[in-house]
Parts: sequence; structure tokens; C-alpha cells
Amino acid sequence: MGAITGTFKGFGVTFSHMFKKVVTTDYPFKPPVSAPRYHGRHILNRHPDGLEKCIGCELCAWACPADAIYVEGGDNTEEQRFSPGERYASIYQINYARCIFCGLCIEACPTRSLTMSNEYELARDSRQDLIFTKEQLLAPLLPGMEQPPHPMRLGDSEKDYYVGALTNPGTSAGAERSPNGRYAVEEHPGVTFPGAEQAAQRAEAAKGERA
Ligand code: SF4
Ligand code: SF4
Repeated sequence: MGAITGTFKGFGVTFSHMFKKVVTTDYPFKPPVSAPRYHGRHILNRHPDGLEKCIGCELCAWACPADAIYVEGGDNTEEQRFSPGERYASIYQINYARCIFCGLCIEACPTRSLTMSNEYELARDSRQDLIFTKEQLLAPLLPGMEQPPHPMRLGDSEKDYYVGALTNPGTSAGAERSPNGRYAVEEHPGVTFPGAEQAAQRAEAAKGERA
């Protein structure tokens, strides 16, 4: 008798789920849109003239509980300037085999150079490919920006940059945009945003699947 009751109870659970909303997503063809403050892939931001916000201070690396960040600082010179002020990051790497996306690094960053996007498609075929380099992490050059090295265009000293960035956080141009997210990539036609390559590959795969 107990076995029969148990069987009906089991079918009851199945039956009740038949009328619930389906939660399955059609990934990768229709990737879910992440929450606005989702912690995804990092971005190293630029100033509006294209200079890098990162000053190579290593505070993000020290704050990281997973030892996922590696930074080597270098000296700017008047001939070779990558950021306002004295220092820049000559090497910057994030190891996504280690990162737990806690966000402590972006809290530690004094210049708001490091932020996190909504991009979550970070799977790779090898551990080596999970180490993202500075070139991969840097925000794209938007219209009006110039590829460093170049002189400071927004003022005579680094203060002009940092005070300006504090009073107008929108000058963090290039950051927090993702083809998966809700940020308007189409605002900047022709600019390749982080994650755009995977989105294009996904679209191609979807076309092949449907052909
Ligand atoms: S999100 Fe957390 S684990 Fe990942 S690099 Fe930043 S501090 Fe390290
Ligand atoms: S990302 Fe920020 S905290 Fe990390 S080295 Fe650059 S300026 Fe310093």
C-alpha cells in the first residue's frame, strides 16, 4: 500500500511540473541576458583621449584572494606615455582558471581602471588561453581616442585626468559594454568590444545549425 502511495506521490511531482514555466534556455543560440550588475570578464578602461587608466600599482593583485592577477609596472616617459602620471602597467594578466569573480580587485583599484563587464562566455580549450593579457583586457578605442603611447591631451598633469574622471564617471569610455548585455554596442559602429568575437562565432554556429 505504501509503495502505491509513493508511486502516486512521485507522479504527482512530475504532473505538477507540466504546468510550470519552462526554465530551459536555447543556449548558445539565444544566450540569456545577464543581470545589470553581473560580475563578468574584466575590462581595463581608458581615458577619453585613449590613455590607459591603469597606473600599474598592483593593488588589484594584492586584493585578489585567488592570486589571479599579475601586474608589472613600468615608467612613463615624455616620449613613451601610456597613462597620465609616472607609471603604467607594462604587463597585466588575469588568469580566469583562478578567478572567482568576487570583484575585490575592482574595489581596490584607485583609478577605476579595472571594472567588470557582463561578459560570461569565458570557456576556452586550454588553460593557457584562460590567461588574458593586457591587450585582451584593454577597452577598445572609441571614436576620438588615440592608440597610446602619446602625450597627455586632456591637461597638463595627471590631476586634470583624475579629477575629471571623478566628477564625470562617464568618461570611463569603452567599459562595461558587452554583446550579451544591455549596453548599446550599436552606439559605436565599427568598434570591436570585448566578447564580440565569441558573439560573432556563436551567430555563425547558429546559422550553420539551422542550414
Ligand atoms: S574578481 Fe576576485 S578572484 Fe577574480 S581577479 Fe578580481 S579579486 Fe581576483
Ligand atoms: S588595475 Fe587599478 S589597482 Fe590594478 S594595477 Fe591598474 S590601477 Fe592599480
